[in-house]
Amino acid sequence: MSFAATILTLYPEMFPGPLGVSLAGRALAEGRWSCEPIQIRDFATDRHRSVDDTPAGGGAGMVMRADVLGRAVDHAIAKQPEAPLLAMTPRGAPLTQARVRALAAGPGVTILCGRFEGMDERLFEARPIEPVSIGDYVLSGGEMGALTLLDACIRLLPGVMGAASSGDDESFETGLLEYPHYTRPVEWEGRTIPEVLRSGDHAAIEAWRKARAETDTRLRRPDLWERHEGARVQSPSGARQKKER
Ligand code: SAM
Repeated sequence: MSFAATILTLYPEMFPGPLGVSLAGRALAEGRWSCEPIQIRDFATDRHRSVDDTPAGGGAGMVMRADVLGRAVDHAIAKQPEAPLLAMTPRGAPLTQARVRALAAGPGVTILCGRFEGMDERLFEARPIEPVSIGDYVLSGGEMGALTLLDACIRLLPGVMGAASSGDDESFETGLLEYPHYTRPVEWEGRTIPEVLRSGDHAAIEAWRKARAETDTRLRRPDLWERHEGARVQSPSGARQKKER
């Protein structure tokens, strides 16, 4: 079964865009996933095909209308009722590799892309929409976020990366950043590949990689490290607590 991506957008011409080349492009040609952008403006009812209006309470910019978005969302739900419905917004929960894996294991995804100042909040109350952010910065529209999310999902689909690279020991899969990589030439601008990686001693290489993954996570991503350490410390004591009862 192919992974079906439906994208509600004011710019359908942005899809598949960069996902039409390389790994994702090949997978698209092979039918491993499908891409259907839907024009939100088609769900406007006035003669100007308006999708936005001025913000209630005043302020700059325009807001996407709940009635127009509601119709667009209902159309997508009717077409693919089993697919999770996501909306791109900086106000959403940050996208994680765990969420990406869960989505990639499913039938597909419907993604609503915002523009302007964002979407009328009543839409989120009235429909089963999961608000998703791709990071703590503001894009001009949800389309780049949708492309990012889809790229992360597509590479995990069966047969896309090939058996050699399942992505199992990549960054975030174990709660840590991945260890650093090196390749030939052995010496570059006076810097050499760490000795251990050229030793052929697989146990030593594994130990070095584990140590570097931990050090780099601690130094570069103290937030991840704290969560990782919290989970590690908690699980043995959690097990102990259970036994003591
Ligand atoms: N006024 C909004 C705010 O401050 O939260 C920003 C609106 S932004 C200019 C327009 C659209 O870009 C949003 O509706 C959303 O779809 C998308 N967008 C911007 N930043 C995003 C992010 N970090 N993650 C996901 N989508 C984002």
